[in-house]
Amino acid sequence: MIPKNIRSALEHQDLPALHEIRELVEHIIEERAKPPREEDLPANREVLKVKTSGSMTFRLERVSCGKNCKGCPHGPYWYGYWREAGKTRSKYIGKNLKQ
Ligand SMILES: [Zn+2]
Repeated sequence: MIPKNIRSALEHQDLPALHEIRELVEHIIEERAKPPREEDLPANREVLKVKTSGSMTFRLERVSCGKNCKGCPHGPYWYGYWREAGKTRSKYIGKNLKQ
């Protein structure tokens, strides 16, 4: 579903701008479909397992919280990584990859 304001803004563009926008959208789709680069993932964690699924990379990691606690490193926990707006984004998943 295209947001109304985006649709309306697109309909007001001239043809050359629309062609440029189409190229931009194709570029964004291509980038989004790629898994994150290895060097963009956190390097300071012990990685026990790696699984990839399409544009997602999942890693089972032990994490240090940096608080000088007795429980460090914590986990292992699964984290998911993907690319969005030229950046690598991540989310915490938990002890199990499939909930
Ligand atoms: Zn800790």
